[in-house]
Amino acid sequence: MRKAVYAGSFDPLSNGHIDIMERAAKLVDKLYVLVTVNIDKHSTFTIEERVNMIKKVIKADNIEVAWTDDLVVKFAEEKGATTLIRGLRNIKDFESEIALYHFNRNIDNRIETIVLFPTYLYTYLSSSAIRELVYYDQDISPYVPKIIKEEIVKGIKRSLKQA
Ligand code: ADP
Repeated sequence: MRKAVYAGSFDPLSNGHIDIMERAAKLVDKLYVLVTVNIDKHSTFTIEERVNMIKKVIKADNIEVAWTDDLVVKFAEEKGATTLIRGLRNIKDFESEIALYHFNRNIDNRIETIVLFPTYLYTYLSSSAIRELVYYDQDISPYVPKIIKEEIVKGIKRSLKQA
């Protein structure tokens, strides 16, 4: 069984992430969508909120949503997955993605990375752009699924009040 892991902070989830998840799920028997704890940055949504938002939106039978505070490679090893999926939006992503690829390979050289390019519309979409749009009271409908839009707006506004 071919298993892969698509990891990210998903803070919050965007249509760009969903595009990659749905396409990656067609390439493998099982895809783990893994919410990671980012050690450098304060997150807007809790791990539980991020996991639940993904679960609300993703319907593919072969996708399982999980989270970890460990290395992505360690999670993959535990699950018997040898492929990591990444989205590569533009040249800005390239540097960090290639560095990540080498670090992961140095930890476990059985792990391969498959890079998918997003659908054109989402090439410049990021979680931070969504947070900024909400900050300026702009409509984020083109960038996030309808069923979680309000939850995303509320969560971002809550974190702005706390800041
Ligand atoms: P970010 O915080 O930059 O939005 P994440 O850490 O949540 O990103 O991203 C997880 C993975 O999804 C990374 O490989 C990232 O490049 C990719 N990704 C993020 N946004 C998009 C998008 N709009 N289209 C395609 N891939 C994306």
